[in-house]
Amino acid sequence: MSLDSPALAPNRGCRDTPVLKERGQREVFCGLTGIIWLHRKMQDAFFLVVGSRTCAHLLQSAAGVMIFAEPRFGTAILEEKDLAGLADANTELDREVARLLTRRPDIKQLFLVGSCPSEVIKLDLARAAERLSGLHAPHVRVYNYSGSGIETTFTQGEDACLAAMVPTLASTTARELLVVGALPDVVEDQCLSLLAQLGIGPVRMLPARRAADLPAVGANTVFALVQPFLGDTHAALIRRGARHLPAAFPFGEEGTTLWLWAVAQEFGISRAHFDAVTAAPRARAAKAVAAHAETLNGKSVFFFPDSQLEIPLARFLARECGMTPLEVGTPFLHAAITGPDLDLLPEGPVISEGQDVDRQLDRQRAAAPDLTVCGLGLANPLEAQGHTTKWAIELVFTPVHFYEQAGDLAALFSRPLRRKALLSKGVAA
Ligand code: SF4
Repeated sequence: MSLDSPALAPNRGCRDTPVLKERGQREVFCGLTGIIWLHRKMQDAFFLVVGSRTCAHLLQSAAGVMIFAEPRFGTAILEEKDLAGLADANTELDREVARLLTRRPDIKQLFLVGSCPSEVIKLDLARAAERLSGLHAPHVRVYNYSGSGIETTFTQGEDACLAAMVPTLASTTARELLVVGALPDVVEDQCLSLLAQLGIGPVRMLPARRAADLPAVGANTVFALVQPFLGDTHAALIRRGARHLPAAFPFGEEGTTLWLWAVAQEFGISRAHFDAVTAAPRARAAKAVAAHAETLNGKSVFFFPDSQLEIPLARFLARECGMTPLEVGTPFLHAAITGPDLDLLPEGPVISEGQDVDRQLDRQRAAAPDLTVCGLGLANPLEAQGHTTKWAIELVFTPVHFYEQAGDLAALFSRPLRRKALLSKGVAA
């Protein structure tokens, strides 16, 4: 791969491809699911969903065995008398919060997370957060965001959460790099180590592991996103005067190199030093990906919309694994954020935004892809029809960013194809 390759020319990519915009029946998660990875990342935060039993059930099933580990999330369930307006929901909320904070003095940040029911009855959680922040300051800061299915799709819950924090961050005039997006700790450590070896700093993270490490922001802050679904957070940071460094997302060897190089250039790092620092991990990543590209090369792939990771992942699969994307569906397309990935994605696939699931299933059937990336609701029915599928949710829960995870990322896509080949051999035997 070469950074100056003619393949970077926009006329060869998908930036100008007309986007098929669809609105209809959707098969996606609501933003509450973001709580599952956010509560693990922010070690002194608690996420209190103000919702119904449906919301509590969703969290329990999405969190799996984690619910037995005294997780830092829960649901304040709206009862019928709340919904009927017979009880003062705010008084009840204050009482629940006071009880929770007494029981869990380790909590420093409390998120009141809005849901469909709390939105429908127009419970003003923003005002409640302000009131409770006043009551519990300085020990606990209370925020509010919406994770409802009406307002948010899956990973957008993280975006809403981070965007809610941005206005409350302290101001600074320091020139700092802010890396934005929740990464598993092991991946975050690798990212910080690479940036330190390059001589880039100071580096801050949003979200931070603890409230005491929250970054400050101002006109000299430059920020790089590690997740493509952070449109509102991007806008909120720009409103605080910070400047975005657009870059391809750090998936695979190429994506990681381009992401790091965009940051390195901003901080005046020489190409020679950059190459010296990245040569060994790049070689490791390329080798690890190649082991899986053997299975993936020449195969076609179809993405249903799920997490907004679809465009960068299609770029990775096309350029590093030799796959042909036939359709790349995304819940939302944010050109300022995924533009560098669209530039690199070879011309050809349908780029679709939003969903009308029946029409998309018709297109998927007609395209007959070798691999279909979709949510759990579609995966088994499609398998039963003979399609090979990859559950999209794993791409969000598995460490997949940066060099050391490039092989694992490719493996997530090669595994279902290998399993299919093994099973069909078994049937033939
Ligand atoms: S927030 Fe809405 S979509 Fe999500 S679980 Fe609750 S009711 Fe369902």
